[in-house]
Amino acid sequence: MKEIVIISGKGGTGKTSVAASFASLAAGRGVIVDCDVDAADLHLILHPEIVETNLFRSGHKAVILTDKCTECGRCLAFCRFGAIAKTTDLNNQPSYQVDPISCEGCGVCVRVCPTKSISFPENLCGEWYVSLTRFGTLVHAILATGAENSGRLVTILRQKAKQLAETAKLDYVIIDGSPGIGCPVIASLTGATVALIVTEPTVSGAHDFQRIAELTRKLKVPAMVCVNKWDINPKKAGEIRLHAETAGIASAGNIRYDSAVTDAQRAGVSVIEYKDNDLAGDFRAVWQAMELFTEKGENK
Ligand code: SF4
Ligand code: SF4
Repeated sequence: MKEIVIISGKGGTGKTSVAASFASLAAGRGVIVDCDVDAADLHLILHPEIVETNLFRSGHKAVILTDKCTECGRCLAFCRFGAIAKTTDLNNQPSYQVDPISCEGCGVCVRVCPTKSISFPENLCGEWYVSLTRFGTLVHAILATGAENSGRLVTILRQKAKQLAETAKLDYVIIDGSPGIGCPVIASLTGATVALIVTEPTVSGAHDFQRIAELTRKLKVPAMVCVNKWDINPKKAGEIRLHAETAGIASAGNIRYDSAVTDAQRAGVSVIEYKDNDLAGDFRAVWQAMELFTEKGENK
């Protein structure tokens, strides 16, 4: 079973269109994972039917139990994040309250409270799902607004997908990774069989490509590159391929600019399903290059 992760140095490069097309081309042979948990959108193309829902809890938040609190003020004095405030309740009595947004979950207030008046429940940060789609099983999530620890959630999604793929003896786990080079991307990439870096022929695309290429090198994940919309700036596309070659990153092929990508998104289908044209041919060629690359890697 091979884990193919599709990543990009920044958002909006066409990563999800590539992931959806790969899911379509590997239909029935893989489990799909949307690891872009901060801005998940693969479901807009895959239209999942949820069959399993799980809560994602991470970290803690302090909650003051006002009926036990003796208003000594120790928690306020010790909180280094300014998350506790002294206010007045409806009866004009002093009342200590925690601002859940500012609370960093360090637990100091819980330790210093002399009357054990502060509870410290686990924080509900989102939900994750196992769903059925026309291409196979999709593992995906919704992270609560402003919730942290998206890297841990990505790890959970990948573990679940791997387990499902192994049990069903499938060939692939296809991962739509997060953009950028932060914690969720590292969690998407670590230990993957191969990474496909999707980039654009622009100055920022070239810069972001170099950052993400460096990350794959550090994490020792073999990588390939695909320049999306290469024909809007063939010169820059050539420069990116040259950089890739110098960094030991093979080309998986280019994808031409075509407004049919947007039309397919609007129609809620993958590019492969939308129309069998030259654009779909580009996506197929990239998938075939990836398949060949992973097979060669396995046979080494
Ligand atoms: S858990 Fe830490 S950050 Fe949160 S209120 Fe208590 S002392 Fe402040
Ligand atoms: S330390 Fe405990 S008793 Fe004192 S104000 Fe805070 S919650 Fe109330």
